[in-house]
Amino acid sequence: QKAKGKDGFTIFENCMHLNSIKFIQLSNRLREALPNKELLLYFQPQYDIRTGELFGLEALIRWNHPTKGFIPPIEFISIAEKTGYIVELSEWTLKTAIEQKREWDKKGLPSVKIAINMSGCVITNTKVFENICNILDELKIQPGEIEVEVTETAVMMELDKAKIHLQKLKEYGISIAIDDFGSGYSSLNYLNLLPFDILKIDYEFLNKIKNKEDESLIYQTIIRLAHDMNLSVIAEGVETIEQLEFLKKYQCDIGQGYYYCKPIPAIEIEKLLLSEISM
Ligand code: C2E
Ligand code: CA
Ligand code: CA
Ligand code: CA
Repeated sequence: QKAKGKDGFTIFENCMHLNSIKFIQLSNRLREALPNKELLLYFQPQYDIRTGELFGLEALIRWNHPTKGFIPPIEFISIAEKTGYIVELSEWTLKTAIEQKREWDKKGLPSVKIAINMSGCVITNTKVFENICNILDELKIQPGEIEVEVTETAVMMELDKAKIHLQKLKEYGISIAIDDFGSGYSSLNYLNLLPFDILKIDYEFLNKIKNKEDESLIYQTIIRLAHDMNLSVIAEGVETIEQLEFLKKYQCDIGQGYYYCKPIPAIEIEKLLLSEISM
């Protein structure tokens, strides 16, 4: 917004200045977060809606800042994307998630797939992507171990590259989910152009439904469209039993949200996996 008066302009300028100072401070500080071991992964379970069985775990990054407390990922991920630090961050997330999964497997806990969020630049930048492939080789990724979530905004600028790179990920046996579907400029085109296996419907979409016929109809139609295209559907942001009933009725495959479980630290996931055995 442009300020009119001279004073207004000064305020605007100061504001920008403050923001850029904050940006630089936070981005500098973020580089220390890894060596200081302030970053950790939380995991949120995903469930098969029909059977109620555990389907997978989405890895969600957390920054536990010593004085500021938990800083939301949307805040620092966007900084990391702008400064290029996202490369190191993505490597760390991938390694940590896989190592964690293998530790659970070694303990004899039920083996579940881990979903990992990947920023657009990781998918569309050739150099960065090659780096990720090196890690996948190093870790000797097995088919079915991981799923990668990408948002459409992340890939739409570089469709050709995204297509090649996502295809490469599939050769590792990694399944690909389109994240936040229904938010932003969903173009049905991407569904055809890119090799997706799973469609995740954005949580705001589900929350909009409430009692609105139209929204509910669109939701149902997305589920049907996805199924016609051989994609599995994950509903995110399942918060209530009513929403779950709705999803059941329209044959949504997988649910994720506070109704089932919040994102929780690894130690709590371990308990959850243990209770799956004794069930
Ligand atoms: P996302 O991929 O859409 O992740 C889902 C977000 O919804 C998570 O927020 C989760 O905590 C939240 N959520 C889960 N269940 C519910 C629910 O029932 N109701 C509501 N209202 N929200 C729910 P979170 O953990 O704050 O993550 C925010 C975003 O940050 C993620 O959105 C993802 O885009 C990004 N992010 C998180 N971890 C990573 C990462 O390791 N790498 C990258 N590139 N991005 C990440
Ligand atoms: Ca996600
Ligand atoms: Ca999402
Ligand atoms: Ca989101």
